[in-house]
Amino acid sequence: MANDLIRYLQNVPFAAELSAWANIESCSDDAEGLAQFRQVLCERLASCGGEVEPVGATHVLARWPGAGKPILVLGHYDTVYPRGTLATQPVVQRGAQLFGPGVVDMKGGLLIGCVAIQALRALGRMGPRPIWFLCTSDEELGSPTSRSAIEELARQAEAALVLEAAGNGGALKTARKGVGLYELSISGRAAHAGVAPEQGRSALLELAHQTIWLHELNDAEQGTTVNVCVASGGTATNVIPAEARADVNVRVRTAAEGERIAAALAVRQPVIEDVTIQFSGGINRPPMERTPAIATLFGKAQSLASEFGLELAETSTGGGSDGNFTAALGVPTLDGLGPTGGGAHALHEHVNLDSFVPRTALFARLLETL
Ligand SMILES: [Zn+2]
Repeated sequence: MANDLIRYLQNVPFAAELSAWANIESCSDDAEGLAQFRQVLCERLASCGGEVEPVGATHVLARWPGAGKPILVLGHYDTVYPRGTLATQPVVQRGAQLFGPGVVDMKGGLLIGCVAIQALRALGRMGPRPIWFLCTSDEELGSPTSRSAIEELARQAEAALVLEAAGNGGALKTARKGVGLYELSISGRAAHAGVAPEQGRSALLELAHQTIWLHELNDAEQGTTVNVCVASGGTATNVIPAEARADVNVRVRTAAEGERIAAALAVRQPVIEDVTIQFSGGINRPPMERTPAIATLFGKAQSLASEFGLELAETSTGGGSDGNFTAALGVPTLDGLGPTGGGAHALHEHVNLDSFVPRTALFARLLETL
């Protein structure tokens, strides 16, 4: 069963197509670049038989018919690299690795999805279930405009397969932390720092108190992290600062921990008299918890992978993806089905080209048999 698939995939020019894709810059906020890549993607999805339709202004859904509940495939085509990045970080192949912006996060994964379907069709082996392949343009922003569509499609789906990059050693991701983003706003009272400092109420001193308190919410055993990642305040070197603000990043392994943090922030009082504080924001991505259904789905992937000698491990990560949304709805979700590589969001972002054939084969087998 697996051999003709592998043979087919060995003749697919993955590196050439991925190079072309990475050479189209498509940063999350670059409407023109996104439109240009979207055009290429729509043509590619249509070329392997997908019925392509727009979702919202910038997302794309391709569908293949079948019977029963569909398999939802998720990928995003936005990257974190602003236009012009290619000038200093060109797409280049070195040995068995292809470097370039977005190759592993996650145009390589999108390519695996397209080629898997193309191969199944070419071999007359499309599975029984419909396939819904949703490609979104705002994942790197926290999916503000695509979340509702992802959730609506997921509610109807048998399972969700996410083509984000693989974990270390090719591991699939069966758990992801939830992500909370909070903003802390602090108002104190300005005063001359030399003439009447006692009349001032320092927003920055309050921020220091709050920062230490926030970090005390960390709980390594529960996997909860709370970090003040951006902070600012004050106006001049001789003024007691009246205003300060901070961005707080929260990561939780369980929904219960997310609620614990939210409840603590909701009732938190200022330390300094006459100062006001306010936390806004909340949990942006719920945690993807490893449910028994996810474990079963992983077991299935593991045995499919063993057909062609791929030893598949599973891992968890503190990073979020759109798989968090589907898993939180109780839809069995497997993530990290994309290529192996490294350096996501960094200068050395790359994929391992030899991972494409086995991982595309695995993805095709999942689509064929789920
Ligand atoms: Zn990604």
